[in-house]
Amino acid sequence: MRIVLLGAPGSGKGTQSKLLIEKYKIPQISTGDLLRAAVAAGSDLGRKAKAAMDAGQLVSDDVVLGMIQERLSKPDARAGFILDGFPRNIPQAQALDAMLARLSQPLQLALLVDVDTEVLMKRLTGRRTCSNSSCGAIYNIYFSAPKAPGKCDKCGSNLAHRSDDNENTVRSRLQVYEQQTAPLVSYYKAQGKLRTVRGTGSVNEIFKNVTDIIEVQMRPLAAAMSAAQAAAAKSAPPAKSVKPAKKPAPAKAAAKPAAKPAAKPAAKKPAAKKPAPKKKPAPKPKKKAVKKTAPKKAKKPAKKKSAPKAKKKK
Ligand SMILES: [Zn+2]
Repeated sequence: MRIVLLGAPGSGKGTQSKLLIEKYKIPQISTGDLLRAAVAAGSDLGRKAKAAMDAGQLVSDDVVLGMIQERLSKPDARAGFILDGFPRNIPQAQALDAMLARLSQPLQLALLVDVDTEVLMKRLTGRRTCSNSSCGAIYNIYFSAPKAPGKCDKCGSNLAHRSDDNENTVRSRLQVYEQQTAPLVSYYKAQGKLRTVRGTGSVNEIFKNVTDIIEVQMRPLAAAMSAAQAAAAKSAPPAKSVKPAKKPAPAKAAAKPAAKPAAKPAAKKPAAKKPAPKKKPAPKPKKKAVKKTAPKKAKKPAKKKSAPKAKKKK
């Protein structure tokens, strides 16, 4: 599974990510980790990143994408990956899509872990940490309060309230998150790749919903997509060098019709069998009068939608 994780600070997406890593044996790719590793390794991209950081600038998207691409070439990312913390804006999301299209590894899922702002506020501002560093127990005065206020249940040390957990700081952090994420949510929704899971309840309940999304909705879709790709590869064995450029288009077209009728994965099967008709709708202009060859075969309204959407996407 190739997943982008979206969720506010305090949404618990980090916990869900860990569970996903375990269950699906795919790595989480964190751009912060990649940057640190590249700088430490002194790689070409690492030197560029270090130069930018030393100059007090943001590391350019090109450098970050280059690092992600390098990371994706490692064997452990063959079955997929979880991207967390990237992309943060639409240009980054577009650049990521372009890069993944070149690799024929388009994103399959943008998973939003959604939690109401007021709950996030309590989760973040209510946090208290044991000041005894060898204990480090964590409490929340709203959800998991210590028995004696301000004292650690385990070791009796005082509990500390981090200064960046105060209400104003947290609220502005959440606002920044909201501003960054809202456009990305729309972006992936338009691609039919966004799924939202409520980030409240027990960790296991949330994870059950996450895996349901993957198993019931995304997996069958992914299977249909690779079947379509395999069929396309079979039908034209020679022109290998030309292929990669063409692949992303049918893959995306396949993603769209299936995204709507999420409830019936069966509908995706026929789509996989006939990759050929998919190529026709794409070049077809809006005019209905001239030719009616292409859309004739489309049996579902969902299918027709893929044509105008595909045109709009870039
Ligand atoms: Zn303690």
